[in-house]
Amino acid sequence: NANFPTLGEKYASYGEEEKEDDKVDLAENSLLNKLIRKSLVESSHHVEVLQRDPSSPLFSVKTFEELRLKKELLQGIYAMGFNRPSKIQETALPMMLADPPQNLIAQSQSGTGKTAAFVLAMLSRVNGAEKFPQCLCLAPTYELAVQTGQVVEKMGKLCVNIRVTYAVRGNRIPRGTKIEEQIIIGTPGTVLDWCFKLRLLDVKKISVFVLDEADVMIDTQGFLDQSVRIQRALSQDCQMLLFSATFEDAVLRFAEQIIPDPNIIKLRREEMTLTNIRQYYFLCENKQDKYKALCNIYGSITVGQAIIFCQTRRNAKWLSLELTQDGHKVSVLSGELTVEQRAAVIQRFRDGKEKVLITTNVCARGIDVKQVTIVVNFKLPTNQLRCPDFETYLHRIGRTGRFGKKGLAFNMVERHNLPLLQSIEEHFKTKIKQLDPDDMDEIE
Ligand code: ADP
Repeated sequence: NANFPTLGEKYASYGEEEKEDDKVDLAENSLLNKLIRKSLVESSHHVEVLQRDPSSPLFSVKTFEELRLKKELLQGIYAMGFNRPSKIQETALPMMLADPPQNLIAQSQSGTGKTAAFVLAMLSRVNGAEKFPQCLCLAPTYELAVQTGQVVEKMGKLCVNIRVTYAVRGNRIPRGTKIEEQIIIGTPGTVLDWCFKLRLLDVKKISVFVLDEADVMIDTQGFLDQSVRIQRALSQDCQMLLFSATFEDAVLRFAEQIIPDPNIIKLRREEMTLTNIRQYYFLCENKQDKYKALCNIYGSITVGQAIIFCQTRRNAKWLSLELTQDGHKVSVLSGELTVEQRAAVIQRFRDGKEKVLITTNVCARGIDVKQVTIVVNFKLPTNQLRCPDFETYLHRIGRTGRFGKKGLAFNMVERHNLPLLQSIEEHFKTKIKQLDPDDMDEIE
């Protein structure tokens, strides 16, 4: 129907404030994850291995010593506080360090030790005495490239002759310069320029090629083709490694297109579950009603820390004002903050400086909810077609089975949205119980 505005037109007529923060930027999210990560993410699953040559023995290591690394590299690893290889590293490291080199595609969720693994592989293969690029690592953004570079600097801090440079927009190097740094980390477009337009390095001399964050790469216009062009120019015996946090079909197809004869390893993520979550809803007419229900929750149970999800920035701001006026210490996460600012807000919340975190969709992932006692959906999550967004619902209130502490979830639902609630119940085969804001004794 020609009279309906398109989604774009609809947004254009909104101010920034009414914008729904629901387009999650994968690269930003990945950076946020890195900035707020303090330790390894565990998984109770086994590493799945698909070997290029199934008859060759499969090694896995329980210690870093078994890898027979250069002394200064081993010391660098211990100086970072790593005691033993992470689960994915146990299998990935021996494969990556084998001679002759093997190609590898590895998938595991962020925080499981992929970056540390390929940085170790690069540092271990590089010859510090030779002054030309030997390792090339592609990353989706400048910021992510820098994060990886910092790991190289840290782990390699005792490898005195080894140096890193960044092939990113803004790092202008005159044509004709010969790069001496052995490790180059960069975004595909600039790397392409450095290799073929400016001829700052000889691609044929690269012995380790890493494509990091493949799922973010293919989400970015042009990066897939550019990566393929770089890869095609590599020498036959260059080792090729690809990493991804997720493994949808498109990522796997890209991975298999770009990495010849790979070993493939996967570590499944810990599944989220609603099993230990008691879920409730309040029937509300408007946001004042919702606010009243929220106050009743605070009036009737002891809340440690809470996360409240709003749909728009305006609602998030409004709610934070109301709560602040009522004496709560509140912080707000929304799309207009830079990734660094978001990381700082999350850190303060983790440190308990604020007891309430109000957030829009953009920032929902990546927040560690272990210490949070209640989660409130000020509005049920829906996708752009206004259908229930089950995955987001699960991520907001679910817990991983393994760390499954009990939790409480409250949904504020307008009458016309009751069908959404029903489909969520049906989808998860779960019960969401109605609460009367004036009689909260029903919370068990
Ligand atoms: P990924 O690349 O999968 O997101 P990282 O390599 O960045 O994971 O590792 C996640 C966090 O765990 C980082 O803080 C990193 O320093 C740390 N880490 C990585 N490997 C180990 C290890 N073997 N032991 C202890 N900590 C580790």
